[in-house]
Amino acid sequence: MILIKNALNLDGFRTSILIEGNKILKVQSDVAQELSPQATIIDASNMLAISGFFNAHTHAAMTIFRGYQDDLALQDWLNKIFKLEAAYVDETMVYWCSKLACLEMVSCGTTGFMDMYFFEDQVAKSALDVGLRVVIGEGLLSFQTPFCADFKEGLKKTFDLKEKYKDHPKAKVSFAPHSLYTVEKNDLELLSNTIDKNDFVQIHLAENLTEVNTVLSKFGQPPTFVLEEFGLLNSNTYLAHCVHLTDDEIELIQKRNAHVIHNPQSNMKLSSGISSVCKMIQKGVDVCLGTDGCASNNNLDMIEELRSAALLQKLFNPSYMNAKLAVRIAQNFGGFFDVALSEGKLADVVLIDLDAIEAIPLYNPASFLAYAANSKSVDTVIIDGKIIYKNKEFVDVDVQEVKFNVKKIAKKIGSL
Ligand SMILES: [Zn+2]
Repeated sequence: MILIKNALNLDGFRTSILIEGNKILKVQSDVAQELSPQATIIDASNMLAISGFFNAHTHAAMTIFRGYQDDLALQDWLNKIFKLEAAYVDETMVYWCSKLACLEMVSCGTTGFMDMYFFEDQVAKSALDVGLRVVIGEGLLSFQTPFCADFKEGLKKTFDLKEKYKDHPKAKVSFAPHSLYTVEKNDLELLSNTIDKNDFVQIHLAENLTEVNTVLSKFGQPPTFVLEEFGLLNSNTYLAHCVHLTDDEIELIQKRNAHVIHNPQSNMKLSSGISSVCKMIQKGVDVCLGTDGCASNNNLDMIEELRSAALLQKLFNPSYMNAKLAVRIAQNFGGFFDVALSEGKLADVVLIDLDAIEAIPLYNPASFLAYAANSKSVDTVIIDGKIIYKNKEFVDVDVQEVKFNVKKIAKKIGSL
């Protein structure tokens, strides 16, 4: 049992949180200590307690390419990255580089993430070793990848992963066709005929105009309608980026209850454009937030990401993407895990230091979190009822070992 005493919540009220096992047992203004004599007590009187962030779109192992290739648009950047991946991605690299990503994510208050890459079993292993929740997705492309000879093999391996993690409480498996410009029609058909409506699908969609034009000439219709035609648009579909959608596409996404993942920093860095997420939210589309991979961001900081999300929309409207909404999309687990800061929910709790210089003075906790906080303010991270990070340090992970192994791999690529 863990008793977090006297924390401030996002609404500005004092609250105490009692955690039993992996769930939140009580959230109230005060929980009597006699109720929980065995509990580990955390005095949070100088802390803000929030529910953990979910990084809904990333490629964790790409920490290895952080800063290797900047300042290019998506297609030019991808051409460079695909070559690097063919040369350097293997099982060992994916484990250590994903583990580094997991450490970075936890230290920024993230308690779960959805990943698309190669050797995804290693991504799951690294996430579970650190303690994070994870949704993995073996990248499916219509050409050879570091992991698979072709799409069909990737599909088979995804089914193997699905079997392996079928009852896992903290790991789930999705099907991850990379995009409509890297997957051919016959492979989309194969995917559509092989999976069922309960299977999760994640895909990059309408990320930039070049992609949309490629899809239009290849399939004869806009990206969302292609997914609809192949029966791949439903409440278990997760669409990353969605920068260039027509109003009809937004309406269709809403009708099918598919989820959109907003990636503002990556969209800016790759010169892709600004997504109309406010319009989507107003129309009832479920929107999550993600950092994308480290090679196009170049960090995995969800506090920074939610600030970018809020600030970027102010180019259109100063009020709609307010601090609370930006925090809310960063905490949206997209239905994968029942995480929230309320009784009976899974216990992913993050404590943010209110003694930090940038937290003073404090009028509005959500404003602080969205516009002034940074990941250095994250003090404690509890995932699934377990303290993973405390007093800004990992409780049970050999951080030096992770750094050593990633540096060793990066040396081969030419790191300094
Ligand atoms: Zn991506």
